[in-house]
Amino acid sequence: MTVMVPSRTPAQITPGRQALDSALHQLDQAAAHLGLDDGLHTMLATPRRSLTVSVPVRREDGRMDVVQGFRVQHNVSRGPAKGGIRFHPSTDIHEVTALAMWMTWKCALVGIPYGGAKGGVAVDPTVLTTRELERLTRRYVNEILPLIGPEKDIPAPDVGTDEQTMAWIMDTYSVNTGYSVPGVVTGKPMTLGGSLGRAGSTSRGVQIAALAALGRSPEGVRVAVQGFGKVGALAAQYLADAGCRVVAVSDVSGAVYSASGLDVSDLRAWVAESGGVYGYRHADALSHDELFELDVDVLVPAALEGVITAANAPRIKARLVVEGANGPTTPEADEILAANGTVIVPDILANAGGVIVSYLEWVQNMQAYSWSAAEVEMKLRDLMQNAYGEVKSLAADRDLTLRQAAHVIGVGRVAEAHQMRGLYP
Ligand code: NAD
Repeated sequence: MTVMVPSRTPAQITPGRQALDSALHQLDQAAAHLGLDDGLHTMLATPRRSLTVSVPVRREDGRMDVVQGFRVQHNVSRGPAKGGIRFHPSTDIHEVTALAMWMTWKCALVGIPYGGAKGGVAVDPTVLTTRELERLTRRYVNEILPLIGPEKDIPAPDVGTDEQTMAWIMDTYSVNTGYSVPGVVTGKPMTLGGSLGRAGSTSRGVQIAALAALGRSPEGVRVAVQGFGKVGALAAQYLADAGCRVVAVSDVSGAVYSASGLDVSDLRAWVAESGGVYGYRHADALSHDELFELDVDVLVPAALEGVITAANAPRIKARLVVEGANGPTTPEADEILAANGTVIVPDILANAGGVIVSYLEWVQNMQAYSWSAAEVEMKLRDLMQNAYGEVKSLAADRDLTLRQAAHVIGVGRVAEAHQMRGLYP
């Protein structure tokens, strides 16, 4: 019998493969700490279901392009699979598998009844028209239709997708089902059953985690944020609102710096108008690499994986790294930063606010009910602060980094679910 355990000696190391190696390394450490047997460890290292699909898309000029799409359900032992859909040219099956695995530990860590999944389409959405994007989204959803559903697997936005994408997914699924099924996706527009507070939830969680880890007044704390999209822009905004001085941010167009602090609202308005931070006139230009090496107190990576590496980690001056993105720090960089005394609030904790409010959105959809913004924020705060407290105290008790402690808790809960359910048949 052949078992599809991801190989660790691939012919070609893609960024996605590096992300999967990082995720497997983190799992190995947690499994060793928990004393998991080899069979269970292998099961947790292996996605439950992986689907690769070809997505033909009709371009405006009549041509047909075919792109690859993926949906991976890493684990469903604690509930339906949950995870975003990414549209990015370098997405591959390895990256999607790593992201699905991190979703499994994240949901278990914050105590919501979901397994982990992720989806992706290897496409650059910025070069497609809105109509092309709609056709691509609907066809991709049609190809993964057997896997998704409100009780099976619930997608959400990620890099390159947004609430419009979720609306098309909800519509495509509903048309195929014969009635409206708002609970099939989260991160929807309010008019289709979205939740108050979902749009800023990941960033709000980043703010909550950052302030908890700072352990002092945020007044004047210098912050740099890499990535100024859905997560990064509002994380910068909420940290500035709390009193921090956001001195630098970057996106794919460039990076900008102001020693006295950026006016984040004004910069967001500039980005909405111009498409990127590049050219913002109330700040100096910076290179992408320089942002990581700034003399700041807090660094928030909020773009893609593998950006803090053995090459730049020794030059990072921030004492606190709060991972808005999934997988931004490689295992080698983790060790360098830990040795230098830099605290990292890991992705599966720091950016869990998004899936927490996704869960709240899904609960509201399943009950055909809605909560106020204040109720949603209170529940988000409770779950984030509880998870942070548990991770911090386990790390202190067992002399672990916050990442190791978060994985021990998340992996441990999933392992326990498997042990309680037993193995069928
Ligand atoms: P997004 O597409 O809205 O934004 C991504 C941002 O990163 C953009 O501003 C883009 O220009 C920037 N970027 C890309 N490459 C860059 C580079 N080399 N240097 C600087 N900036 C770069 O995506 P998002 O939803 O904000 O997701 C960002 C990260 O947060 C991802 O790792 C994602 O998995 C994670 N995350 C997102 C959510 C969510 O709710 N959207 C939840 C949890 C985690």
